[in-house]
Amino acid sequence: MRLVLLGPPGAGKGTQAKLLEEKYDIIQLSTGDILRKAVADDTALGRKAKEIMARGDLVSDDVIIPIVDQRLDEPDCRNGFILDGFPRTVAQAEALEEMLERKGRPLDAAVELEVDESILLDRIRKRAAESGASTRDDDNAESLKKRLDVYRESTAPVRDFYARRGKLKTVDGMASIEEVSRQIGEVLSA
Ligand code: AMP
Repeated sequence: MRLVLLGPPGAGKGTQAKLLEEKYDIIQLSTGDILRKAVADDTALGRKAKEIMARGDLVSDDVIIPIVDQRLDEPDCRNGFILDGFPRTVAQAEALEEMLERKGRPLDAAVELEVDESILLDRIRKRAAESGASTRDDDNAESLKKRLDVYRESTAPVRDFYARRGKLKTVDGMASIEEVSRQIGEVLSA
């Protein structure tokens, strides 16, 4: 199973990706996690990404696309993957389509978690409180506003990209974790 998870920050992509990992024996690839690790390890990539991430902007397509391209070739992706946080721009979606075609492993579906913006602020505040302030530099009001703006402008069009290809499956991201998971299972087996 090869999936993309779509939805605004705080929609629950990470939580659902973890459940999908177990259910389908595939792995979660979170570009946010990859970048946060690079920042923590103080690599060249991390130094490049740190400020951009802290203010809630996107790391450039030229930087992130080759990282995903290489990561998908690693053995643990052989059984399938869930991309969480990628693609975030139409250019990334086009690049993903090209690379998966080249690898002979097309996407099965793009699953969208549909959520009202009004509940996202609360969810993200809760996440920041639960995980401790040190975990994410970008879970603060200012970065969050920027991340939602970036989502609306750059990432929301990715949904239409997959809709045009008949790959978009939308579920109600406001339901309970278990119910969202059930709905995802349903749209994937349909
Ligand atoms: P996330 O954990 O997915 O919310 O990502 C945290 C931050 O990492 C984002 O706000 C961006 O700064 C950066 N980032 C993660 N994935 C991407 C991507 N696909 N393209 C550009 N920047 C990204």
